[in-house]
Amino acid sequence: MRGPWPRLDNLIGGELRPPVGGRYLPVHEPATAGVYAQVADSDAADIDAAVRAARDAAPGWAALAPSARARWLEQLADAIEARLDDFAAAESKDSGKPLATARTVDIPRSIHNFRHFAAEARTFGAESYAGEVGLEVVLRQPLGAVACISPWNLPLYLLSWKLAPALAAGNTVVAKPSELTPATASMLAELCVAIGLPPGVLNLVHGLGAKVGPPLTTHRDIKAVSFTGSTATGAAIAQGCAPLFRKLSLELGGKNASVVFADADADVDAAVAECVRAAFSNQGQICLCGSRVLVEKSIYRRFLDAFVEQARAIVPGDPADPATRFGALVSQAHLDKVLGCIELAHTEGGRLLLGGERVRLDGRCEDGWFLPPTVFDQLSFDCRTNREEIFGPVVTLLPFDDEAQALAYANGTDYGLAASVFTRDLDRARRMAERLQAGLVWINGWMRRDLRVPFGGVKRSGLGREGGAEAMRFFTEAKSVHFG
Ligand code: NAD
Repeated sequence: MRGPWPRLDNLIGGELRPPVGGRYLPVHEPATAGVYAQVADSDAADIDAAVRAARDAAPGWAALAPSARARWLEQLADAIEARLDDFAAAESKDSGKPLATARTVDIPRSIHNFRHFAAEARTFGAESYAGEVGLEVVLRQPLGAVACISPWNLPLYLLSWKLAPALAAGNTVVAKPSELTPATASMLAELCVAIGLPPGVLNLVHGLGAKVGPPLTTHRDIKAVSFTGSTATGAAIAQGCAPLFRKLSLELGGKNASVVFADADADVDAAVAECVRAAFSNQGQICLCGSRVLVEKSIYRRFLDAFVEQARAIVPGDPADPATRFGALVSQAHLDKVLGCIELAHTEGGRLLLGGERVRLDGRCEDGWFLPPTVFDQLSFDCRTNREEIFGPVVTLLPFDDEAQALAYANGTDYGLAASVFTRDLDRARRMAERLQAGLVWINGWMRRDLRVPFGGVKRSGLGREGGAEAMRFFTEAKSVHFG
């Protein structure tokens, strides 16, 4: 494409470079549906150049003291923090999320990711075992050049969640951000050049997943692939990597349940507020969102009324307005997909309690991709709407009789990422936590994260764990050395 829009190029070997093929893709602002930038439409030649740069830089980066690598990560964190407002504005414009969310959640968390893994670099230790057969020391050595592939819903937040541990552990990286939200990754690339990060340590290749993904994940010089995105893409990557015996970390989709027992709270209001937050944060576009709300029958009516009332108060607005708390969906294609899911819920006999139709805002956002909070009930626990990921502001409410039924409903999907349980009964909380098929369980809350704990899902929600030492282990290879 050609036009007056600014170009977002690749970062390869320490330089910002146009794609070898010279082609660009349009980048849209979801709030207006207008094109505002163009991003490199890279191909296998760009990937090859980036992987070679990463491979050549790997020995030097691995040889640095961990504290020296930590200082580079801290410099990146400081550089982002110095431009917090610019990053927040770019993230909001690019993804449709409210400026307030980008400013208070996405960008601060991205900064924190770099600082957290700088600390991990300094403290990550190797085990040693003595006494049984002499002394055994376990070395954890960097892998070399690794691929980090991230989605559009939390663009810099999830990109940095991968880059930071990969770099901290002594690897060099070829990163592939989502083609839908390339802006803050490009700003990060500029900061890498500005602070003088050694060339080739971090490379960034933009482009379509189907075009640059396979040459990256199956490149002979890539030692591991860390991927966050849809289950379908994760399966395709796994298929390509399996014959190569390539290390793989997959963070995939979710269909998470919020389970509310009658003893949750004296007035249930706190549970309602948390379930609403779980359902509609980031327009429901977080893998952890609680998109199925299971409620004990005796409080169902009261809960439903309060839930719908609180959800009704969430009104889509211009993401650039600092007062807006609910923005646009990321793309026309995604809006169409979510509207298709709403159509399916109707077909499956669901009762629409709120929302359900695209809204048109006045002024500059009249063509934007806005869909308000949407709530259904009266759907069976095993219909497609209650089993398949929607990844938008669409939630179902479902009453249950007892703990056994709540558990059967909650576990009744192929996904197993996260769940929330609302109860004041400690024994029940423990039983539910043990029996829920999920990688993360919150008791009386949602999405409270300590970056040291393992993060990841079971079933079709993924493979492996990120976070803290788990990520450092993924990005290193253990070698046991015996001293006789
Ligand atoms: P997606 O799978 O379409 O794309 C994710 C990334 O993979 C993008 O950068 C894309 O360009 C790239 N890609 C596409 N095809 C590829 C291929 N064949 N090889 C390599 N890379 C390829 O996902 P999305 O629509 O960007 O993100 C939404 C999905 O991500 C949802 O399913 C959501 O649940 C999931 N997600 C999971 C987590 C988690 O931690 N488990 C977090 C956020 C999002």
